Parts: sequence; structure tokens; C-alpha cells
Amino acid sequence: RAKKAGPGTVRFFEEADDRVSRDRKALQSDLAGAIARDELFLVFQPFLDLDENRITGFEALLRWQHPERGLVSPSEFIPIAEETGLIHEIGEWVIRRACATVAQWPDEIRVAVNFSAAQFHNSGILQIIVQALSEAKLAPHRLEIEITESMLLSKYGSAEPVLNALLELGVTVALDDFGTGFSSLTYLRKLPFSRIKIDQSFIRDMLVQPDCAAIVKSVISLARDLRIAVVAEGVETAGQLDYLRQISCDEVQGYLISRPVSADGVLALLETKKLRRTFAA
Ligand code: C2E
Ligand code: MG
Ligand code: MG
Ligand code: MG
Repeated sequence: RAKKAGPGTVRFFEEADDRVSRDRKALQSDLAGAIARDELFLVFQPFLDLDENRITGFEALLRWQHPERGLVSPSEFIPIAEETGLIHEIGEWVIRRACATVAQWPDEIRVAVNFSAAQFHNSGILQIIVQALSEAKLAPHRLEIEITESMLLSKYGSAEPVLNALLELGVTVALDDFGTGFSSLTYLRKLPFSRIKIDQSFIRDMLVQPDCAAIVKSVISLARDLRIAVVAEGVETAGQLDYLRQISCDEVQGYLISRPVSADGVLALLETKKLRRTFAA
């Protein structure tokens, strides 16, 4: 097709390719210094428990304030961090910062931290978690690790030994983006998950696609039988919230409840009575 369009077109695409790869290299080298320059920070998005109508915890989400580009999204720079191996240093920074931050919050509030595959399967990971907990003097049950289905059995091997070690430590594990991977339901029985997070794509479509609603309902009832809690991700409308309440979803997360907020915003959110009034059944 390129040939038919003429040689000029080929050159155009090659130059465009060059530009993309130069751009990526620039971003890579900028990312390498981002921690030292204090450009990374965490924002926090609440989990709302639907029985108790209260916030039970927050998910820590990583942000990069680039000096020229402005805010860079984690979906853009996490893959670069994974390719370059920077994810280990960044991931360690995230877990330490998350533990130190949640230690300043009320005891009943947990923090959930996202992990990448390479980071999760790194042999030093337990040591890093133990150290982050002890530095922050944080009770292990207040930390939750979020991993995705694709990490259960990856090129790095099985996740089972680390999951069992975390269980022993008292750190809980949630299965993120549930329903988007290829994992078998057997994993739910075999592996010690405390929580399943139903992917936002199901929540988005459940009120318009009956098949989708059926899946959400079944996951919730299966999880209840297995005594695993369920979080619905990406709740954006009151209709979705009502429905999730009807089908006894345990917790919800999404822009309707709150966008991710700064660490200071967390304390403000916990103090305000607004949430209770707005979301009480
Ligand atoms: P995730 O863990 O599934 O996080 C949920 C994403 O959905 C977040 O995007 C969040 O801001 C967004 N979100 C929350 N509520 C809503 C909603 O109601 N509607 C919509 N449309 N979106 C909503 P974010 O912060 O851009 O993070 C994207 C992904 O980057 C995360 O997906 C996670 O996989 C990854 N990530 C974020 N922080 C970290 C980190 O510290 N370490 C690692 N390894 N990955 C991270
Ligand atoms: Mg997550
Ligand atoms: Mg998710
Ligand atoms: Mg409950």
C-alpha cells in the first residue's frame, strides 16, 4: 500500500516512526530522573461500602508531573517503566509512599496499591513490602495489593507463592480489572483473594446490555459464595449505583463517588458528611 502511495509517503511514515521512537526515548530518560526530581506523586480514589455507607479505603494511583509535558497518564508511562526496568524503583517508591500516607489516616481506612507483573514476580518484593510496612508502622491488614488476572500465570511463572506469603503476612490481595483477562474461575477457589474488582467496562454497559448485567450479577453471587468481597469499578451514574445496591455489591468506586484526590483531599473527604447524605440508600 505504501508503494502505491508513492515513495514520498514511505519517507513520511518513516519520519513519523522516527519521531515516535525519539519521543519514547526522551520520555524514558526523563522518567529515569523523575523520582529524584520529585515529579511523581500519588492521588487517591475512595472505596464506598454500600452496607455501611462509608468510605473503607482508597486506591493509590500514580501521577507524573512532567516539567514540559504536564501531567502524563500512568497508562502512558507505566509500560515504559516496565520495558526499561524502572518499574522496580518506581514501584518501591509507590509502596513506601502509600504506606506512609495511609498511616496518617484513621485505623479503619485501607490503601490499595497497583502492582506490575515484573514487580510482583521480583524475588525481593516481600522484603520491600515488609520494610515499607515497618517504616510506616502500618498494620499489614491496612495494605491491599492489586494485581490483574494476566499476572497469575505469566512469563515469570506462577503468582501462588507470593500470594500465599502475602496472606501469611496479613496483607490482602485484590484481583483488578476482573473479567478482562483469560483466567479460569479455578483461580478464585485456589488463590487467596480478599476482593474482586469488576472491570469498569462491565459496569459501563450493564444497564444497556442484559448479558452484561447477567455477568455482573453472577460474579457477585459467585464471590459471595466463595466469601470474596466485590468492588465495582468505574461507577459514573446514580442508576448504576442503584442497580449495584440492588444486587448487593459490597463496594463501589468511580467518578460518581469521587475522582482521585490528593492526600490532603482524602482527609477532607473523610471529614465531610456530604458522602453519607448523597449516597445513603
Ligand atoms: P486501574 O488500577 O484499573 O485503575 C482504575 C483507573 O480508572 C484509574 O485510571 C482511575 O482514575 C480510573 N477511573 C476511576 N473511576 C473512574 C470512572 O468512574 N470512570 C472512568 N472512565 N475511569 C475511572 P488511572 O489513574 O489513569 O490509572 C490507569 C491504570 O494505570 C490503572 O488501572 C493501573 O493499572 C495503572 N496504575 C496506576 N497507578 C499505578 C501504580 O502505582 N503502579 C502500577 N504498576 N500501575 C499503576
Ligand atoms: Mg487498580
Ligand atoms: Mg481496574
Ligand atoms: Mg459489606
